[in-house]
Amino acid sequence: MAGSSDIVVVSGGVGAARMLSGIVQVVDPDRVTALVNVGDDLELHGLRISPDLDTITYTLAGEINPETGWGLRGESWQAMDSVKRYGGISWFGLGDRDLGTHLYRTQRVAEGATLSEVTAEIVAAWGLDLRLQPVTDDRLRTMVTLDGEGDEAGLEVSFQEYFVQRQHGVPVRSVRFDGAASASPAPGVLDLLGRAGRIVIAPSNPIVSIDPVLAVPGVRAAVEARRDDVVAVSPIIAGSALKGPADRLLVELGHEATVLGIARLYAPLAATLVIDEADAALADLVEAEGLRAVVAPSVMKTPELAAGLARVVLDGREDEA
Ligand code: GDP
Ligand code: CA
Repeated sequence: MAGSSDIVVVSGGVGAARMLSGIVQVVDPDRVTALVNVGDDLELHGLRISPDLDTITYTLAGEINPETGWGLRGESWQAMDSVKRYGGISWFGLGDRDLGTHLYRTQRVAEGATLSEVTAEIVAAWGLDLRLQPVTDDRLRTMVTLDGEGDEAGLEVSFQEYFVQRQHGVPVRSVRFDGAASASPAPGVLDLLGRAGRIVIAPSNPIVSIDPVLAVPGVRAAVEARRDDVVAVSPIIAGSALKGPADRLLVELGHEATVLGIARLYAPLAATLVIDEADAALADLVEAEGLRAVVAPSVMKTPELAAGLARVVLDGREDEA
């Protein structure tokens, strides 16, 4: 039964999956809900694909593909090879095992299931005890306007056309969340945020993973209302993202790609920011932005490091659980 001991983790993909893998080592997974971005979702080949939900599921199931960081381990690519033979859409790789997830999700949604319902089914089928909660069951799509393509105003493309098709190697002018204004939080989301004992903002991309979660009406305000109990983990370490375009996107959109830039973005939302030991010298400047700075090893290279960071994020009070 949910209660004040619930932990809600505002989540993108990879960084969040690692954070969650640490948290479920130190607290009962029954208490943990990942509140997950759906702005990366897409429809391809008539299939419903939810990359951040799947990255978290596969990571926690121990089945994430270690070579790619996405998809399932032990993949084969025969279906994609056929698509390529026909000259179909092949820039977004879908392995044969992974395809089963998208087939199932698509069929269930066509039957009338919500994304929340089918996600719960998928998570249960992988034997996981935590909850994965898409922030909304409505359509919300991150759209990226690229500089240097299209006309003077740039070219607007979907998130995956930027991230995967162009390998996030092109300058970005702006980001918007199509559908966000008319989306509703999925059932229970605002209640969950209201009563959680701890809200964690995972070390995910602040612009394209965390912001689209907060863009669903009511969600940002619900997190702000709990600011004292919100702990964020910086995805930026020593001025860089570990992987992906978070550092570049921050700069392109007028922020600083440092823990200070993160502190300024998260100050209205979180009372505490966990920064890496590499940024210890910036702790005082982070605190000057109005957050408590906690310095800790934050690169979750191993399960032990992820568990250690989880203890820090949960104040070390939860070890016995
Ligand atoms: P995506 O949805 O798969 O692109 O992933 P996210 O948005 O969750 O994560 C991308 C961000 O997570 C990058 O900025 C990374 O620097 C950050 N990240 C990934 N792993 C770690 C980690 O172990 N520690 C920290 N502090 N950040 C991480
Ligand atoms: Ca993502």
